Amino acid sequence: MSRVYNFSPGPSMLPEAVLAKAAEEMLDYQGSGQSVMEMSHRSKEYDAIIKGCEALLREVMGIPENYKVLFVQGGASSQFAMIPMNLMTGSGKADFVITGQWAKKAHQEAARYGEANVVASSADETFSYIPKLDPASFTKDADYFHICWNNTIYGTRFSEIPETGDVPLVADMSSCILSEPVDVSKFGLIYAGAQKNMGPAGLTVVIIREDLIGKAMKATPTMFDYKIHADNDSLYNTPPTYAIYICKLVLEWIKEIGGLEKMKERNEKKAQLLYDFLDSSKLFKGTVAKEDRSIMNIPFITGSDELDKKFVAESSARGLINLKGHRTVGGMRASIYNAMPLEGVEALVAFMKEFEANN
Ligand SMILES: *Cc1c(COP(=O)(O)O)cnc(C)c1O
Repeated sequence: MSRVYNFSPGPSMLPEAVLAKAAEEMLDYQGSGQSVMEMSHRSKEYDAIIKGCEALLREVMGIPENYKVLFVQGGASSQFAMIPMNLMTGSGKADFVITGQWAKKAHQEAARYGEANVVASSADETFSYIPKLDPASFTKDADYFHICWNNTIYGTRFSEIPETGDVPLVADMSSCILSEPVDVSKFGLIYAGAQKNMGPAGLTVVIIREDLIGKAMKATPTMFDYKIHADNDSLYNTPPTYAIYICKLVLEWIKEIGGLEKMKERNEKKAQLLYDFLDSSKLFKGTVAKEDRSIMNIPFITGSDELDKKFVAESSARGLINLKGHRTVGGMRASIYNAMPLEGVEALVAFMKEFEANN
């Protein structure tokens, strides 16, 4: 068996220990004589899996009691609509910080349902930085304030929680959830597609403060109403059963490693290794403002499209795959989520040094 180091932005690497455990339990889950994939979502075996997954997520993230954890489908992209349908029902206004494609999509979708205000944007410099926020420009009576915490495509991330007072802060954490500790109590709602740091595609996790549930617009489809999922413990209909099971294994893996403090330490060490090299290299350079650098997604360029192409092709032949940057940025991007081992980043940096010497 030969596994590659996969730098894909998502779906992305899963911890090898998780895949091995899933393989071991594939045909016969803990003596039940079935695969988790074949199980009724209302069976007692599955009940323990979904409840166990939620309990572990609460423990690992320190989620306060007055928050619900919802397991839904439709990806983070469905949340771009589900959030305004459920929350934009007081003043009908919400504020947005535009820090990349995903933040832009969240804003565009919300604009279909109410007054979606842009309070800051870094579009002027291809989203290579996080704009400074001026609370005086915030909408006082907004129903929520939306940010994308980690910008997967551009490689920036917030390092301070915006001060929004009584306005609930909503954060897309698709590409950074579980990468470091977060103070959940500072947010009204946190959401994430699972396929970057939590498990396979198909599962979306929503962490929502209870007082924000039950205010959906009349026309909201049943499946888009947070209250339906909250009242039914995410079992209103069939949830993405296997993805939730893998997510539980991932959370067990994180807990065994030492939780989110330890994850952060590991992630910072990996990111530092790559950033230090980028800062010292004569060929490669990073594309974002230093103070806003993500520890999950690291874009870089050589300055020559031809060399970028050559690098992507040659690195791929060495088992360092999916390093091509997003089409709007060009160059390369290394996504180094929780499951990327330090050895993967070491192998990447070693190859970059070799490439630099040869070119
Ligand atoms: C990947 C990603 C999305 C889109 O997620 P889907 O699950 O594919 O809808 C949204 N926001 C961020 C920050 C992402 O990284």
